Amino acid sequence: GAGVLALGIGLAGCAGDRTGGGSGDEGEAGGIIGVAMPTQQSERWIADGNNVKSQLEELGYQVDLQYANDDIPTQVSQIENMITSGAKALIIASIDGTTLTDVLQQAADAEIPVIAYDRLINGTENVDYYTTFDNFQVGVQQATSLLTGLGILDADGNETGATGPFNVELFAGSPDDNNATFFWNGAMETLKPYMDSGVITVPSGQTEFGQAAILRWLPETAQERMENILTVIGDTKLDGVLSPYDGLSIGIISALTSGGYAANALPVITGQDAEVGSIKSIIAGEQYSTIFKDTRELAKQAVTMVDDIRKGEEVEVNDTETYDNGEKVVPSYLLESTIVTKDNYEQVLVDSGYYSADDLK
Ligand code: BGC
Repeated sequence: GAGVLALGIGLAGCAGDRTGGGSGDEGEAGGIIGVAMPTQQSERWIADGNNVKSQLEELGYQVDLQYANDDIPTQVSQIENMITSGAKALIIASIDGTTLTDVLQQAADAEIPVIAYDRLINGTENVDYYTTFDNFQVGVQQATSLLTGLGILDADGNETGATGPFNVELFAGSPDDNNATFFWNGAMETLKPYMDSGVITVPSGQTEFGQAAILRWLPETAQERMENILTVIGDTKLDGVLSPYDGLSIGIISALTSGGYAANALPVITGQDAEVGSIKSIIAGEQYSTIFKDTRELAKQAVTMVDDIRKGEEVEVNDTETYDNGEKVVPSYLLESTIVTKDNYEQVLVDSGYYSADDLK
């Protein structure tokens, strides 16, 4: 809309006025773009960082790419450094979406536009755009694949009439990551009718987000929680586990195998991110599904946003309602994700060139 266009023009108008702390790139088309990523502990963020960097460089930008080792003060100081060294724009995948208010005020004071990458940044006006996947839909897909794996739905998504009851435990992501509640809400809306009718039961009784959430998405925390649940539920055999991230699924699988489940007789376990280790696990018949989010496409959206802003062009968004960060509804561009199982991983991941067949051996 008009606001979007005005922002672009305003920035283009002021770009030449900014001295930018000695980056020495005034008058060049590109300039330095700061890219702040949360962690290298998970492959997806490495792929995101590499994709954003290479695509920006192709357009003639210089890139300051930083990983914060999932430590909030580290991420804040990395962003401060980007600001003082003259970044022309910031692309930020936050660790905790509520902790960047002060540093983003500094960015705003220096008239540096900010793109929230994958995770919404909360509680500040100073985030210009957001690009992510349709996070609610990711949760719907996770739960749908769980229902398919359990045999409650068939491959076409129709109910088979299976009545179970199926024993399912539920995991959620990090409570400080805005995405985690979207994934959870999408999944729970999908599972609710089956929980209400008793087709699905949760033996531990832990059905609240707060009980299921795993701070910082740590695999070892998920493993511990799964071990505790196994102790509590005793001999009850699990048929499924809703897991919102491949790293958590790995921890959950460890707990299950050390708790007596054979690797070829695990419950139906979901995931997210299509990380190599988890695709191998899917091929081996351990994990059941994951959700593929093409980081090449997400990077492309973020890079296009930056480039459009720099050129004073209108920034394309496709959602201006969903992502209210408490201060404003952040104009967003949402991408679509894909359910991956043993049946389609080659088509989705190998044929698209995301991985080579060798990567998955
Ligand atoms: C991302 C997921 C990822 C999770 C853990 C979320 O914000 O959207 O793709 O699995 O963080 O890294």
